[in-house]
Amino acid sequence: GASTVLDELRQKLSPQGDVVSPRGRALTEKVFGEPLSPVAVVQRICRDVASEGTEALLRYGRQLDNADLTPDQLRVPAADLQQAHRDADPELLATVRRIRDNVRQFQTAILHQNVQIQPAEGIRLQQRYVPLRRAGVCVPGGAAAYPSTVLMTVIPAQVAGVEEIAVVAPPTPFGAYNQDMLATCHELGVTEVYRMGGAQAVAAMAYGCDAVPAVDKIVGPGNLFVALAKKHVYGTVDIDSIAGPSEVIVIADETARADFIAADLLAQAEHSPGSAILITWHQPLLDAVRQQLDRQVAELERAELTIDSLESFAALIRVRDPQQACELTDQFAPEHLHIQTANPRDLIANIRNSGAAFLGHYTPVALGDYAAGPSHVLPTGGTAKWAAGLSANDFLRSGSVIEFSESALEQIGPDVERLAEKEGLTAHAASVSIRRSQ
Ligand code: NAD
Repeated sequence: GASTVLDELRQKLSPQGDVVSPRGRALTEKVFGEPLSPVAVVQRICRDVASEGTEALLRYGRQLDNADLTPDQLRVPAADLQQAHRDADPELLATVRRIRDNVRQFQTAILHQNVQIQPAEGIRLQQRYVPLRRAGVCVPGGAAAYPSTVLMTVIPAQVAGVEEIAVVAPPTPFGAYNQDMLATCHELGVTEVYRMGGAQAVAAMAYGCDAVPAVDKIVGPGNLFVALAKKHVYGTVDIDSIAGPSEVIVIADETARADFIAADLLAQAEHSPGSAILITWHQPLLDAVRQQLDRQVAELERAELTIDSLESFAALIRVRDPQQACELTDQFAPEHLHIQTANPRDLIANIRNSGAAFLGHYTPVALGDYAAGPSHVLPTGGTAKWAAGLSANDFLRSGSVIEFSESALEQIGPDVERLAEKEGLTAHAASVSIRRSQ
């Protein structure tokens, strides 16, 4: 049944540390002299960067990215950022500024505020939020360039008030040499951009080295090596999440247009790997979407990759009714959920698990990817059951503040003393009683 289909898809999509392309395997063997698993590769790289610092960072840049850099070429010079910005398409910069304003507005509105209560006379309890001092952002650059990732990670950090933001991108034409990406950084006021990628960049930001001061938190998407490295360094620093392949579930009824839905499914499959699932209780729609997929995929620039993705990770599922659609969606917990029905707000009220939800016929997921305001860094692989998308609040750390007056201590003191004595911690009890006996 449908439930089994989704379980099998979930299984295939979960980030598995041992799945790498033949080219990736060959590179690993060349660099390490033996066929190591990605987890072992990442452990080795992190260990070397932790102990040898910049030297290991440069060596892995040479071996994995063919970049022959000296230590002072690791950081993109201010002049290069300015030049990229001067040369940039003015239309692109105008778009960047408009999107910056959208993201800022949303992220500012959702920012946690300090909370203070006075539960009784003489007692003040506070939850306060403090921005992290320094954050590191991974911008991918192996297979494509992502100025949008700069927007969706840097702006939430800025809104939170992070003092220092370091951006890392692989030393490739799609990465730290991509002029649109550099121009976007400059437009946002980012001055610290490094030409380094993969596990070595994550390790450098976590442990710090001569060339790169350590950060407090590492965020942003990346390939398997980046994801595994973030998992490896968690605890030394904080991380946002382990991002896997992108996914969408579209729930649709007879009011939906098959051509729109096919376009939405293809947009996700284009990520390659990317998973695209339609759930509907209206068989004619399902048939029409199948036809539209065949028609539209042939016209895509990335047709071959997209077809691969559809063959491995797509499903068109017919269910009994809307309720079953909601149950299946909760089971799968998709990164993106797009509801194209007559009353999408009613349906979303019955669904617990999704990273981001898009409601209605005129809200394609690409709006969220590029422009709306909430970040596009979202939980994948079923983690939307317990994880949330990146937001400005991820760059705040909460701390509590407690303040009692003498008479308030007098009131609560006996309870503290009693519990402390029960636990055999008499010094704890004494730290209260010494104040009460005066
Ligand atoms: P990437 O920049 O994440 O990684 C490239 C680096 O990986 C290289 O610099 C290299 O150092 C390292 N590497 C490559 N092969 C290796 C090997 N065999 N051994 C050790 N290290 C190796 O690059 P990418 O390939 O562009 O992947 C980016 C991923 O991020 C894609 O899957 C993309 O879909 C995803 N993405 C997600 C979002 C999102 O918000 N969810 C946004 C943008 C990109």
